[in-house]
Amino acid sequence: MKVLKFGGTSVGSAGRMKAVADLIYNEETKIVVLSAMSGTTNQLVQIAEKLYQNANQEANALIDALHDNYKRVVEELYTSTEKKKQALELIATHFDHIRSFTLDLFTVYEERAVLAQGELLSTALFQFFLEEQGITSVLLPALNFMKIDENEEPDNAYIEKNLKLELEKYPGINLFITQGYICRNAYGEVDNLKRGGSDYSASLIGAAANASEIQIWTDIDGMHNNDPRVVKNTFPIAELSFDEAAELAYFGAKILHPSSVLPAKQKNIPVRLLNTMQPEAPGTTISAQSGGGSIKAVAAKDGITAIKIKSGRMLLAYGFLRSVFEVFERYKTPIDMITTSEVAVSLTIDNPKFLSEITRELQEYGQVEVDKDQSIICVVGDFIAERSGSGLKIFESLKDIPLRMISYGGSKNNISLLINTADKERSLILLNDGIFERNNHNA
Ligand code: ADP
Ligand code: ASP
Ligand code: MG
Repeated sequence: MKVLKFGGTSVGSAGRMKAVADLIYNEETKIVVLSAMSGTTNQLVQIAEKLYQNANQEANALIDALHDNYKRVVEELYTSTEKKKQALELIATHFDHIRSFTLDLFTVYEERAVLAQGELLSTALFQFFLEEQGITSVLLPALNFMKIDENEEPDNAYIEKNLKLELEKYPGINLFITQGYICRNAYGEVDNLKRGGSDYSASLIGAAANASEIQIWTDIDGMHNNDPRVVKNTFPIAELSFDEAAELAYFGAKILHPSSVLPAKQKNIPVRLLNTMQPEAPGTTISAQSGGGSIKAVAAKDGITAIKIKSGRMLLAYGFLRSVFEVFERYKTPIDMITTSEVAVSLTIDNPKFLSEITRELQEYGQVEVDKDQSIICVVGDFIAERSGSGLKIFESLKDIPLRMISYGGSKNNISLLINTADKERSLILLNDGIFERNNHNA
């Protein structure tokens, strides 16, 4: 069994959906996980914003425009009048459901129901297309098996048990289609795995089904050595270890959802990143092997807040760090980076929801300084413990950039640096020139 996930661009038009059908058409048993068509989730977010504001007229205009887009997709995707009619009826049901939210109180519960429509639409339309092509497949509702618990963590035992039950209903079927991103929460409500979450769905499903491989099909030929949205001349990395890939995904490489590597790592299932527009390209294979080499890649994560706690009492005071960490634990706020000195500790968080509460409580332990608009630059590779001089290259490249924090030693495959977000693009370009220039010339 393989799990193949196709992202928004890969199913972003009738033409792209047809190309996906060609790619998956073979004898192998597989579960195909689809995202919403590109742009849809963003548009649903906008619709939800209007509904929150009670701007019903504007919401309806956006809903009608999106509905019209889908009508055009239906026209292009199917040939038979019967399938077109069936598909138009189906999309009308979804859009009527969205419109129904203009009539009622709009809360986070309704918002999640709106956001779920993108994946429900793309998978239903794709399943209809396979039916029209005479390809036997079954549409598995992700809401029947994908689940998160009270802490918004996946309920792996539930997913495994219920996915198995779903699959067992269809002996002899080797092609299953399901929705990425959407799930139920601990209260049985419709919820989601956060933006970009279809990758996470694919790896959770892969782990639950003990898949032999998880393929993430997207619009680029694998994990690149730097952010291709910012830096020119980036290139794909053939092999990454689970830890290297997890690090890059967590620290901003948008090609993978931050949590999506762990389920595959836990079951030792290789993850391949492949390009729908260029299916013959080798892409990136993520597995227990790192593929060696020195500095592999650089990624950056924005929206970071740095918090410094200065305390004369920290020196020789055991229990100080525990008290500090407990504050973050109470507010369920994960810490990304940490550096310490004799008199101060600096931490970063990416979720500022409880920043004022956290700051207030930390003031009990010392003087607190907060810096917003920070970015973490993460340099990844299986290099640092084994080779000398890599650190020098990094710091030389960034000699003109003020560095707010430096973290190394937590794992041997990463150096993290905290900088002002305003310096991010320049830093990524400088690192590319300083670290990868020679590789580029060889490529
Ligand atoms: P999908 O819709 O298929 O999930 P995403 O847009 O979420 O696709 O992810 C693919 C995009 O990630 C690429 O188009 C690229 O712009 C961006 N990206 C950011 N960093 C990297 C990186 N290091 N390697 C490859 N792609 C990256
Ligand atoms: N459709 C969702 C999003 O745009 C999930 C995904 O594409 O992975 O965030
Ligand atoms: Mg994505």
